[in-house]
Amino acid sequence: MSGRHEKEKGVNVQVLLRCRPFSDDELRNNAPQVVTCNEYQREVAVSQSIAGKHIDRVFTFDKVFGPSAQQRDLYDQAVIPIVNEVLEGFNCTIFAYGQTGTGKTYTMEGECKRAKSGPNGELPPEAGVIPRAVKQIFDTLESQNAEYSVKVTFIELYNEEITDLLAPEELSRVACDDKQKKQLPLMEDGKGGVLVRGIEEEIVTSATEIFTLLERGSSKRRTAETLLNKQSSRSHSLFSITIHIKEATPEGEELIKCGKLNLVDLAGSENISRSGAREGRAREAGEINKSLLTLGRVINALVEHLGHIPYRDSKLTRLLRDSLGGRTKTCIIATVSPAVHCLEETLSTLDYAHRAK
Ligand code: ADP
Ligand code: MG
Repeated sequence: MSGRHEKEKGVNVQVLLRCRPFSDDELRNNAPQVVTCNEYQREVAVSQSIAGKHIDRVFTFDKVFGPSAQQRDLYDQAVIPIVNEVLEGFNCTIFAYGQTGTGKTYTMEGECKRAKSGPNGELPPEAGVIPRAVKQIFDTLESQNAEYSVKVTFIELYNEEITDLLAPEELSRVACDDKQKKQLPLMEDGKGGVLVRGIEEEIVTSATEIFTLLERGSSKRRTAETLLNKQSSRSHSLFSITIHIKEATPEGEELIKCGKLNLVDLAGSENISRSGAREGRAREAGEINKSLLTLGRVINALVEHLGHIPYRDSKLTRLLRDSLGGRTKTCIIATVSPAVHCLEETLSTLDYAHRAK
């Protein structure tokens, strides 16, 4: 599907679906299963019958990962080629999209505390896309005979406000009072891209250094979650790795390849599916979800080849402008729960993700 799709339309958007296993709670409560994955057919079926009402729908994606799929399966099958593109000097973006609690952070970061590499540099099985990509990048760079530099940024976007997750503690102390967090403005860089003014851009020289930064940033995000009433389900996090590689051509000239990989853990999708309907909180919800809604429109405009791509309508899409569309690769990993109590959100995630194809 994706091959034909890409050739016909010239768009590099890949949509994957991942269904997590039942949680311990769901198992204890014998939660009925309403989602079935067929990885070979790349199909996801949703079925349920209650009080004479039947739901029976099947969705096809570029790849499907069922509850028993391991972190490594997803990485090897879907992410390795994307990181190779980045190492060739292209910009690529991977999004995790789905209801809160369906495995976005698990997929992107994995179980963070244990995601540090072991003595021989191997990663634990729970390590997610970010540590695996970091390892692939450094393994490749270290095996090549070329000069390189690697920089990372890690930010959080909440209510269209940007917080630097790598800023030194005193600048971005997370407190119950939101105002005490330092918010950073976006600026046009004059070359069609945007910059976050005042952002901490860390130059890193090894995978281990990135793991330390990642842990610092995501623990900051987790602290915010408990203190700020589950803020993180409404915030997006964006981890970006920029790589410069200096190569000599056979003619002895210098060639600089620059590629960027963006890894985005999006706000819980329940924030868009419900907000539209509610009068009173619509405005607040609108601000919170502007980036999620605009991202959907941008991706639709790209796959439908519409003339106008509304990048400017949200901070997230402004930030990612140089990495969405054109000669870039985009991958959306939609995450769902297999359980009946998530049915409504699961259907809306499947519809959103399917529209992006
Ligand atoms: P989200 O970031 O979408 O809110 P999380 O990544 O925090 O969701 O996942 C919720 C819970 O489910 C976590 O305890 C996580 O470890 C677990 N989980 C999610 N996906 C998987 C998976 N594929 N395999 C095993 N556990 C998972
Ligand atoms: Mg999360």
